[in-house]
Amino acid sequence: MSNNLQAVRGTRDLLPEECDRFRFITDTSYNIARLYGYGEIATPIFEFTDVFKRTLGETADIVNKEMYTFLDRGGDSLTLRPEGTASIARCFISGGFAQSLPVRWFYSGPMFRYERPQKGRYRQFHQIGVECLGVNSPLADVECLALSYDLLKALGLIDKVQLEINTLGDLESRIRYREQLVAFLAKYKQDLSKDSQDRLDKNPLRILDSKDERDQKILTEAPHLFQYLTEDSKQFFETVKEGLSRLGIPFLINPQLVRGLDYYCHTVFEWTTTQLGAQSAVLSGGRYDGLIQSMGGPQTPGVGWASGVERLSLLLDETNLHKVGPKKIAVIIADESAEMRSLQLTHQLRQKGFQVEMPLSGNLGKKMKRADKAGCSWALVLGENEIKEQKITLKDLSSGAQETLSEEQFWNRWS
Ligand code: ATP
Ligand code: MG
Repeated sequence: MSNNLQAVRGTRDLLPEECDRFRFITDTSYNIARLYGYGEIATPIFEFTDVFKRTLGETADIVNKEMYTFLDRGGDSLTLRPEGTASIARCFISGGFAQSLPVRWFYSGPMFRYERPQKGRYRQFHQIGVECLGVNSPLADVECLALSYDLLKALGLIDKVQLEINTLGDLESRIRYREQLVAFLAKYKQDLSKDSQDRLDKNPLRILDSKDERDQKILTEAPHLFQYLTEDSKQFFETVKEGLSRLGIPFLINPQLVRGLDYYCHTVFEWTTTQLGAQSAVLSGGRYDGLIQSMGGPQTPGVGWASGVERLSLLLDETNLHKVGPKKIAVIIADESAEMRSLQLTHQLRQKGFQVEMPLSGNLGKKMKRADKAGCSWALVLGENEIKEQKITLKDLSSGAQETLSEEQFWNRWS
């Protein structure tokens, strides 16, 4: 029986420290996205189930195994969004944005997938992402990738991740390749995993993505999509690679990278890490030129990516966080007569943008300890003498040095 006082499996309470990290990640990505001209949008966290069924493809794991789908009281089938792109495509179509191309959007928020919870994999998790709609040029792919690079750099994570890219080519390339791949894999059908056998008819390219060891072994001999690319598709990929090189963004080509969803074409990419075990994907995306049309909208090319905030947060170094946020200072009341003056100073300091800790219980020693624990670099001590002489004692908590200042001297310190 479930215990109603526990959080649902795969969900977590985000406590202040974790929320600090989340906010650092989302604020940083929002700011960088803005430099690239991406405006923020927020779509609802649930949609009609069809929005996801139609966009993600009937054979996608997300649709078959991972969706939180329910009937609402009116009898409509609704689904908690498992990812952002489908909702954004729906918004793009229902809002008539084809009239105002190109569209560059940034989003952040919770996503929901029924998966086996483990480190870096949850049932409610959070993504940040960008989508660029209406641009055919491979330079848009480079732009999205550069944005992700700038973000990972700003978060201090660039040395912990590497960029893998691949191309799926255009439709013609994939049709040509599909035939060859199926012919090859059919020979080994009995040895493939059950999932891959099922995919052989429905979506053979996805077999390349299989994590099953036997599948992987068979695949080492499989033909490469690269050999079946049309000239246009080859050129497209060349431009993306050249763009990345020009910007000094290092990448690896991974011919096995196909991404889990049906709607991708041309460029696909993933920033991966070796530091999170099986949860190696930190940021993933690609081009999806057929998506909007497949949902009933006008033919509109698109490219974008999404990144898991929990995984970014797990990779974040504490030191990155200390660079942000306000200066911390403690106000210590050493005598009751100093209460009101301390209250006032605390207020003034907060108005000047300090984060102020004012411990209100325990003796002087306890209060000092509390200030230290809160990470304050300074403590301002006010007792009987300070009130009488209208002075302030300022203690440097890292060196222990202290000095007594007039109010004027004190405020000059921080200006
Ligand atoms: P994985 O291979 O780890 O299942 P995915 O291919 O399903 O990832 P996407 O659908 O591309 O992931 O989602 C984009 C990003 O969202 C991933 O790169 C990852 O960082 C994050 N992510 C995906 N699923 C989860 C989850 N259940 N919990 C936490 N983060 C997730
Ligand atoms: Mg997944």
